[in-house]
Amino acid sequence: MDADRGRIVIAIDGTAGSGKSSASRGVATRLGLRYLDTGAMYRAMTWHLLLNGVDVLDVQAVARSAEYAAIGSGTSPELPTISLDGDDVSQEIRSDVVTAAVSPVSAVPRVRELLVARQRAIIGRGGIVVEGRDIGTVVAPEAELKVYLSADPSARALRRSAELASTQERNLATVEQALRWRDSYDSSRGTAPLSVASDAVCVDSTAMSLDEVIKAICALALERMAKFAG
Ligand code: C5P
Repeated sequence: MDADRGRIVIAIDGTAGSGKSSASRGVATRLGLRYLDTGAMYRAMTWHLLLNGVDVLDVQAVARSAEYAAIGSGTSPELPTISLDGDDVSQEIRSDVVTAAVSPVSAVPRVRELLVARQRAIIGRGGIVVEGRDIGTVVAPEAELKVYLSADPSARALRRSAELASTQERNLATVEQALRWRDSYDSSRGTAPLSVASDAVCVDSTAMSLDEVIKAICALALERMAKFAG
């Protein structure tokens, strides 16, 4: 891996169910980079609060308990890991209770302060694809490439139901409604709302396959790396 590729930071932000995770992991794998799922960190924080019986709508109680969450993030794109107090919580963080509570938790400023500091420490000197909601705007505003991934709500609901299909039966309208609610909560919060960075490249994946999205982002990344190298 050349030095420039080793240092690049690729920020991939976007709405829920826009295909960020699969695209980010695919890009990191193809380019030989690390991968960080910041959404998993907010979900692990939410699981910590629920396990400790904290009312997620009580901002002060959330901020107090957040200090004690020991969250670990493994950055291999082939096998990303997420742990809480040393235990693998990759299943728990995808549960309905966590998905329903994660947006109010993520809106608490102290939670964001704690997790953004950890995310920046992991990003370090770069060589990483980071996905989330505020990566290009807040966490890594100096990222060499910022992508904002979107897709029509109906396409996102379809993909999300397919992901859930193996374990849970879901009505498409219910899935779409939940995605829209989370997007609107994440976009309207006071601290680091979901928004498009002014220098982000917008990719609408509605009519694209996963492979097409990965190829498009890799092409942009290689273009940026060549520019910085030359
Ligand atoms: O990406 P994912 O859908 O797993 O994210 C779960 C939630 O975590 C989002 O709905 C949002 O509330 C929060 N989040 C955030 N900032 C990030 C990543 C995720 O607020 N950088």
